[in-house]
Amino acid sequence: KPWILGLTGGIGSGKSAAAAHFSALGVHMVDADHAARWVVEPGRPALARIVDRFGEEMLLPDGQLDRAALRERIFRSEDERRWLEQLLHPLIGEEISTNLAQAESPYAILVSPLLVESGQKRMTRRVLVVDTPEHLQLERTMRRDNVPEEQVRAILKAQAQREERLKYADDILVNDADLAHLQREVERLHDFYLSLRGGQP
Ligand code: ATP
Repeated sequence: KPWILGLTGGIGSGKSAAAAHFSALGVHMVDADHAARWVVEPGRPALARIVDRFGEEMLLPDGQLDRAALRERIFRSEDERRWLEQLLHPLIGEEISTNLAQAESPYAILVSPLLVESGQKRMTRRVLVVDTPEHLQLERTMRRDNVPEEQVRAILKAQAQREERLKYADDILVNDADLAHLQREVERLHDFYLSLRGGQP
């Protein structure tokens, strides 16, 4: 049975870029953000529960969840936020587990910006943190999303701090050079991971 590597890092640190290269090397990859969106798709039970509790105003005209409306709603109440987390976390966890179970590679990767905060770290045997100097996180995110600096700074501030993330890293990928460097680092780590038994040296 494949062991699970957690891959995390701050906004614009290069998680997706690193994951894409692991994927190109044949490693099975599951994206926690993707699972989190999937469980609230129209027709999924969680969306009906959200509408039951908070009303039809949680829906966009096309029937999709109105994320901004939901955020606004739970922002005002700790209880509602907890209710939502208790609804979604187990469903997201199940979705992730189901997808990880499809892996046929020697190890599989769970990419998650909130690996620790969400409790998803418990599913992993080992954690790789993509560590990127803040000025590069800012620069790359602004370029990728075409958003103003202030908006990226606000997200950086709200996320777990760099030191905090590095505390639970088993491995660190420093993404401070070009993409060719990132890919070489991924290849080096991949060789190392293939040499492990169940994620342990
Ligand atoms: P988020 O959590 O915000 O989704 P992320 O950690 O997945 O971000 P990526 O989307 O992989 O980050 O990277 C952010 C942007 O920076 C992307 O446009 C990516 O192509 C670019 N990028 C990543 N690493 C490098 C690098 N070493 N050199 C140049 N550009 C890079």
